[in-house]
Amino acid sequence: MDKKPLLGLSIEELEDLMRSRGMAGFRGRQLARWIYLRRVEDFSSMTDLPTKLRDELPEDHSVTGVRRLGTWVGSGGAATKHLVGLSDGAAVEAVVMRYSYGSSICLSTQVGCAYACPFCASGAEGLVRDLTVEEILGQWFIAQRHLDERNERISRLVYMGSGEPLANYDAVLRSMRLFHSEEGPGIGYRRMTLSTVGVVPGIEKLSAEGIPITLAVSLHAPNDYLRDRLVPANRSYPLGEVLDAASKYAADTGRRLTFEYAMIKGVNDHPDLARELAILLADIPCHVNLIPFNAVDGCEWIPSDPERIEEFEAILGRMGIGATVRRPLGHDIEGACGQLKRRHGEV
Ligand code: SAH
Repeated sequence: MDKKPLLGLSIEELEDLMRSRGMAGFRGRQLARWIYLRRVEDFSSMTDLPTKLRDELPEDHSVTGVRRLGTWVGSGGAATKHLVGLSDGAAVEAVVMRYSYGSSICLSTQVGCAYACPFCASGAEGLVRDLTVEEILGQWFIAQRHLDERNERISRLVYMGSGEPLANYDAVLRSMRLFHSEEGPGIGYRRMTLSTVGVVPGIEKLSAEGIPITLAVSLHAPNDYLRDRLVPANRSYPLGEVLDAASKYAADTGRRLTFEYAMIKGVNDHPDLARELAILLADIPCHVNLIPFNAVDGCEWIPSDPERIEEFEAILGRMGIGATVRRPLGHDIEGACGQLKRRHGEV
């Protein structure tokens, strides 16, 4: 039988686990410190635990349940991609981005993706399965351990890797609560962003959670006609419904929304579309992230010319919509937006 990883258990659950093994509850707190704060993977190094516990825990438990299969550094050190091996032989990718204000990790939430956006490599092979909460935390664990060597800390989380986070709702929400917890990594909700293709029931559910994370919606087009083509999920959740749910999220949480718009040459980058987008978003507290399109295998689209992107940004700005062009990171290691794909354990 697989050993149950301890990463992904809350402090209360660790305390209960210790009690169920005939130990005092505070041993759970000690374990949490070793795992979440010191990132020790080996029970024998947990020196303040009784020897009996150190010897017996590995029979039933592992610390993470994931393995680092490979690490690639790109963009002059600003992007690091880790290939994270899962217990069933599947693997997912997580990318750490270094900015002047600190490091962010882009987390995957599923192996593959069911939503089949034609320009995104993550969905090319369909959905394989949801990640568990310990596999989501495991990506952070591996990346943070790697940064520990440089005394750096991951201070932001973006749920923008492979998969649709709102289609794996419970594990994603639980991972956010664990990342936030004081005994865990202690990352503030305001430093977490969840990006969705626009799963309306998920956005509505998230509004009621009372956690002020940033919601990012992958828009890519200002009307249903074009969005149906770029984001097939639009046929189930049309633009109007997505924007209603997102606006309600903004009202309920007081958080400004982010809209992502990949700039694809000759497809969605005409200045008229910038004007249409500005009118569409006029009454919504939001910011638009323009993402220069990243080339992916099997899709012939190419990025818009830089002047087109600047013009698009300027039109939005003139019409009162804040927009920025996202700095492309990780191309050279296939770690940029849309390039994360299903990989297998062998490297
Ligand atoms: N399923 C979620 C999370 C994936 S996020 C979502 O759709 O939002 C990854 C972001 O990168 C999304 O905005 C996605 O539309 C965008 N993206 C995908 N492929 C891309 C590509 N080739 N170039 C630029 N952005 C891309």
